[in-house]
Amino acid sequence: MIDTALLAQEADNLGLNLTEEQLDDFDRFAEMLDFWNGKINLTAIKDPTEMVYKHFADSLTVLAAVAMPQGASFVDVGTGGGFPGLPLLIARRDLHGVLLDSTQKKLLFVDRALNGLNLTEQGRTLHMRAEDAGRTLNLRNRFDFSVSRAVANLRELSEYCLPLTKVGGTFVALKGSKAGEELTEAKAAIKLFGGEVADIKRFVLGEMGERNVIVIQKTSPTPPKYPRLSAKIAKEPITSAQ
Ligand code: SAM
Repeated sequence: MIDTALLAQEADNLGLNLTEEQLDDFDRFAEMLDFWNGKINLTAIKDPTEMVYKHFADSLTVLAAVAMPQGASFVDVGTGGGFPGLPLLIARRDLHGVLLDSTQKKLLFVDRALNGLNLTEQGRTLHMRAEDAGRTLNLRNRFDFSVSRAVANLRELSEYCLPLTKVGGTFVALKGSKAGEELTEAKAAIKLFGGEVADIKRFVLGEMGERNVIVIQKTSPTPPKYPRLSAKIAKEPITSAQ
């Protein structure tokens, strides 16, 4: 269904070498996405070429931006139809991922995809709000990496993702061309939740435009009173160190 040669080329541009088997997995994932998208609304992106750039290559920028050690764990916050988490699991069979979302029906699809791609030992879904997960004992401070795309502005996203990330771990946010502005607005929140901005890596994916991967190291624990409840996160943005 997708042009696997194009995906291989885009992955190569990111410094990643996908095997034939992995390219087949991406193709099967695209087919499942296409089939289930007709039944439940998973993604507005339906064109196979756009799928290669906007879903698959975009998700793989995580692996080009940060070195994920063998066997590392990650949580994908607001995974939706499985992005970026599922492509990460396909490209790196050694990683362990929790694909978290507050919308159950999307996770039913992600579960099918994990099953269909034989990824159930590596990945599992979790139906929960990120801010609830961040206050749950066995999830808080638990992951080597937190990753997220298209879920919230960076300030709010920091409150979702940093509590879940280990001290010494990394929070990776996939953003578009407004990354710089979001970062300025989120600086105080990132610091408050124990993060330090390490890098912004810019990628241009074919003609699909600019993407920015914001890399934040977790250098100290998140204070126990965070994350707050979702209404508070939205209504009382962190604008300075509290
Ligand atoms: N990350 C996917 C992608 O890039 O295609 C999905 C993006 S979709 C626009 C946003 C997703 O985030 C939705 O599936 C929504 O249910 C989820 N979401 C939003 N706020 C959330 C929260 N506080 N906790 C968990 N999931 C959340």
